Amino acid sequence: MDCLFCAIINGEIPSKKVYEDDSCYAFLDINPQAPVHCLVVPKTHIASADEIDEQNAQAVAAIFTAIPKIADQLGLQNGYRVVSNIGEDGCQSVKHLHFHILGGKKLSENMA
Ligand code: AMP
Ligand code: ZN
Repeated sequence: MDCLFCAIINGEIPSKKVYEDDSCYAFLDINPQAPVHCLVVPKTHIASADEIDEQNAQAVAAIFTAIPKIADQLGLQNGYRVVSNIGEDGCQSVKHLHFHILGGKKLSENMA
C-alpha cells in the first residue's frame, strides 16, 4: 500500500519522532500550524476516524492514552487542541488516521 504515514512509521521516510509505543507513533508536523504541532498515528493502517470500529478501537484508545504523555513531553501544560480531519470536507490530505496536537500559544476560538 502506498501510504505516507505507513512509510514514516516503517522508517522509510524520515520524521522527527516525539513518542513511540507498541501501537502508536508521534512525530512533528512538517508544516507546523502552531508553535507546537505534532501528529499521532496508529501503527496499523486505518484510513480515517470514519473507519474506527469495534475491531480497531483499541488502537485509538492507545493513542488517547498516549496523548497526555506526549503533551506533557512537548511542554503543553497550559492546554492544547486535538484535531482529526476526515475526508474531503474535513480537508484530510493523508489517508492514514492521525490526530493533530496543536499548542504552544493561545489558539483561535474559531474551529471551522
Ligand atoms: P491532514 O491535512 O489532516 O491530512 O494532515 C496531514 C498533515 O501531515 C499536514 O499537517 C502535513 O503538514 C503533514 N505532513 C505531510 N507530510 C509530512 C511529513 N513527511 N512529515 C511530517 N508531517 C507531514
Ligand atoms: Zn498507512
